[in-house]
Amino acid sequence: MTPTPNGRVALVTGASRGIGRAIALGLARDGFDVVVNDIERQREPLEAVVAEIAALGRRGIAAFADVADRAQVQAMVAGAIAETGRIDAVVNNAGILITGTVEELPEQSWDAVMDVNAKGTFLVVQALLPHMRERGYGRIVNIASIGGKHGAPEQAHYSASKAAIMGFTRVLAQEVGPLGITANCVCPGIIVTDMGRTNLEEKAVADRWIANTAMRRLGQPEDVVGPACFLASDAAAFVTGQSLNVCGGIVLS
Ligand code: NAP
Repeated sequence: MTPTPNGRVALVTGASRGIGRAIALGLARDGFDVVVNDIERQREPLEAVVAEIAALGRRGIAAFADVADRAQVQAMVAGAIAETGRIDAVVNNAGILITGTVEELPEQSWDAVMDVNAKGTFLVVQALLPHMRERGYGRIVNIASIGGKHGAPEQAHYSASKAAIMGFTRVLAQEVGPLGITANCVCPGIIVTDMGRTNLEEKAVADRWIANTAMRRLGQPEDVVGPACFLASDAAAFVTGQSLNVCGGIVLS
């Protein structure tokens, strides 16, 4: 069924696959035209997502940029606004996971994870805020992780980057609330994607995650779509500064 257009435009980063792709398609089904971002090396899969959005009857636009690069982010946001006239909602989803113990972690791995996950979120939000302020409207959805609340061995830097996103979002919500803009986090649990498989290499580890999940299963990218689309919608107009666990009941708070 062709979705009913809602006249709105969303930007989703890291949208060539996994959770970002699923959210971009979910937003299209909710009637958004969607600007989908990924890094240049993901050109082919990102263009395939644009085609999937078009098949749903909505407009998809590919916007290549490294979210950790300020100049590329500024150009992407300016280009998206010039092309569509508006960005109503942004889902900051682009992220990387590199594993390593604190004792052995190379400084470059710390920097890379912080640059993409934490700084990338900040750069995209900062580039969009003048536009959202001018329009007196915006929905900012930052994909954090239960890793930022609980975490797992060999992921201290990843956990720190996701906790940084949550702290950033709590303060952002206070700054932009008076402008008609909301800012929230979604905190996925173990979701079966290329990144999620890093946590699932051994069957025993996957079984342990399942046993520790109230719903007794691993998550799929589609499990994250409803909560993210809700926070990007007007139904969530009075929800801001929150970090919503979408983990099947691993973290219960
Ligand atoms: P994924 O399958 O690895 O997809 C992430 C996408 O982001 C990839 O296409 C990746 O491209 C892209 N990306 C990486 N660096 C980028 C950059 N600098 N600029 C633009 N795009 C970039 O990951 P996922 O599992 O869908 O995760 C999506 C988000 O959910 C991430 O923020 C992740 O931390 C979070 N999350 C995932 C899980 C999980 O279990 N899967 C759990 C909690 C939170 P390359 O592959 O070329 O780098």
